[in-house]
Amino acid sequence: MDRDWGSKPGSGGAASAQNEAIDRRERLRRLALETIDLAKDPYFMRNHLGSYECKLCLTLHNNEGNYLAHTQGKRHQTNLAKRAAREAKEAPAQPQPNKRKVALRKSVFTLLRT
Ligand SMILES: [Zn+2]
Repeated sequence: MDRDWGSKPGSGGAASAQNEAIDRRERLRRLALETIDLAKDPYFMRNHLGSYECKLCLTLHNNEGNYLAHTQGKRHQTNLAKRAAREAKEAPAQPQPNKRKVALRKSVFTLLRT
């Protein structure tokens, strides 16, 4: 493992501890960005303001790392589980995917953004 971004080894003190915390977060962020393909994430969306949105939870994020942290969070996981459960329940009764609902949600979202 290379750890040569930011903190100099041996500089010591509170500042370096802080740097290490930032390093760890940055490392996690980069790792997440490498392992998770945001282009394949159906809920990831970049808005016209340059920030990022979770279409599932309707949350706003300043950067990809923040969004990724959110996808690991309880709220997103809960929403994912809820959605999966709902879709599993609706799927046998409705062979057609509920396109109308999706379209409606999209237009609501567009309204929210304007
Ligand atoms: Zn989410």
